[in-house]
Amino acid sequence: MNIPQSSFPRVIIIGGGFGGIALAKKLSKKEAQVVLLDKHNYHNFQPLLYQVSTGGLEPDSIAYPIRKVLQGYPNFYFRLANVLEIDTQAKKVLTNIGDIRYDYLVVATGSETNYFGNKGIQNMGMAMKTIPQSLNLRSLILENFEQALLTDDLHERDALMNFVIVGGGPTGVELAGALAEIKKGILPKDYPDLDTRRAQINLVQSGDRLLPAMSEVASRKAERFLEGLGVNVWKNIRVADYDGKCVTTNTDTVFETATLVWAAGVQAVGIKGLDAKEILARGNRLKVNHFHQVEGFEEIFAIGDVAQMQSEDFPEGHPMMAQPAIQQGRSLGENMVRLIDGKPMKPFVYKDKGSMATVGRNKAVVDLPRFKFQGVFAWFVWMFVHLYFLIGFRNRVVVFINWVYNYIRFDREARLIIRPFKKQNQAERSKLMQD
Ligand SMILES: Cc1cc2nc3c(=O)[nH]c(=O)nc-3n(C[C@H](O)[C@H](O)[C@H](O)COP(=O)(O)OP(=O)(O)OC[C@H]3O[C@@H](n4cnc5c(N)ncnc54)[C@H](O)[C@@H]3O)c2cc1C
Repeated sequence: MNIPQSSFPRVIIIGGGFGGIALAKKLSKKEAQVVLLDKHNYHNFQPLLYQVSTGGLEPDSIAYPIRKVLQGYPNFYFRLANVLEIDTQAKKVLTNIGDIRYDYLVVATGSETNYFGNKGIQNMGMAMKTIPQSLNLRSLILENFEQALLTDDLHERDALMNFVIVGGGPTGVELAGALAEIKKGILPKDYPDLDTRRAQINLVQSGDRLLPAMSEVASRKAERFLEGLGVNVWKNIRVADYDGKCVTTNTDTVFETATLVWAAGVQAVGIKGLDAKEILARGNRLKVNHFHQVEGFEEIFAIGDVAQMQSEDFPEGHPMMAQPAIQQGRSLGENMVRLIDGKPMKPFVYKDKGSMATVGRNKAVVDLPRFKFQGVFAWFVWMFVHLYFLIGFRNRVVVFINWVYNYIRFDREARLIIRPFKKQNQAERSKLMQD
């Protein structure tokens, strides 16, 4: 892999997401040779993917080159590589560009969409976990309306303008809200010769409330916001299958739709060689101790979505969110310095800073440890926090300007079909998009 030899121990980090970047920043100025491997050359700010899917933001404004994040860090090396396997005996990482030896290994590979084995949904549904997937969804939404204009078949037209979003977590809620705003503010102007009032946005949640990880008041308010925007909220319904045209459920309710978005589950991205049953927890996550060491290994660590650290407060591990990943990356960085210096490591303690979700213009819900609030102020807090955590000054400026522009003009101008998405290729693509 052409990494120079160093007198410092070599730490390999797999994954330049929230966790991997936070760790690399902590460690790369210390006495360690840090090698970051990622199959993409950019960091993807996933919380704003839904805005890419709905034409509110260009993809470039939520992605940032990993090399640029760590420019000037003396002991940092990045390689664009897909990690295929870990040889824990030989302490080697096997990738598509060659093998590399490690002294310490950190797995920060994040999570991927979990279809719970349902091939129909996997092949015909849309996921929104990566930038290419979000661009596919953007194209499909717009193509559906172009197609709806062409057909005389009212049944087909309705199906093209019928959207089913499965999963009432933040992703589902935010996407449903954004689509409802497009229906209200943009479609009538873009498609004056189409009866866009017939467009339906359905949000399907298997449980009895939206945003189940947030407070009851946030759930209630988010539901009220969505209903106010005209979203059909379906609770206590489980989607059973989708064949590209028809969504069946565990009830009599059936949806005829050309677009099903699956936002109902994630699982950790596993790696061959670190997949023994005993070290895997629910959702494929790697069991780690309070220093992030993977069960049974002293020199292999895991952080972020891929790691499951059990504690009294978090018996199922920390939430699969950006904050735990960032805090874990920083904590592990400090611990690795201690480890290299021969000092004892400190156990990780997660500081819950709260959670939030936006439903649309002037509408968000925020749960902080001490306060809970909803509405306009919550929406400003949501925007501020997202701008703050977005990587890169240019991205912050571009996103801020876009938001101000969209707010004043009630618009989303990135509604472009740059790369057409064809349903017949969907099965093949959904497989490829996993990468
Ligand atoms: C649509 C959406 C909305 C979200 N909204 C929020 C939100 O509002 N607030 C919030 O806190 N969290 C949100 N999340 C969750 C949050 O984005 C994740 O919890 C966070 O990204 C986890 O960070 P991570 O470092 O563990 O992994 P990631 O950020 O996912 O990074 C993993 C990295 O590993 C790389 N990788 C994976 N496998 C390999 C391999 N084999 N070889 C090489 N590289 C590999 C990937 O390319 C990626 O860069 C959202 C997620 C999604 C999908």
